[in-house]
Amino acid sequence: MPVSGLPPYDPSNVFARILRGEIPCRKVAENDHALAFHDIAPQAPVHVLVIPKGAYVSLSDFAANATEAEIAGFWRLVGQVAKELGLEAGGYRVLSNMGVHGHQEVPHFHVHLFGGRPLGRMLP
Ligand code: IMP
Repeated sequence: MPVSGLPPYDPSNVFARILRGEIPCRKVAENDHALAFHDIAPQAPVHVLVIPKGAYVSLSDFAANATEAEIAGFWRLVGQVAKELGLEAGGYRVLSNMGVHGHQEVPHFHVHLFGGRPLGRMLP
């Protein structure tokens, strides 16, 4: 469903194509509702993207329109990947870019999971 200020979902976006198996990804883990894979241009020793399997443009779209099971499945996978990749000891960062001001490149809701080195203090 379109969300005010953001474009409608574009099914030709690269993450939709990954979900359809049209282009490959380096999968880390998945469950019924979400997929985690390595970013193609990593910005940290660990840089994983976690995406819902449903077609959501943004966090506000996901929060408003996803089912409770989708929301739980998504965030459980984020936590599972952080644990399985050994990030809990040193810590990590979860970040999500939204829309033009947020510099979102791929219009399918996703979070970045960064870790494996001190990440520094981050403010806009
Ligand atoms: P954002 O939309 O600005 O949050 O960032 C999109 C991210 O997707 C970037 O970090 C890209 O490097 C990453 N990305 C783009 N295409 C692919 C791909 O085909 N596989 C994995 N990561 C990708």
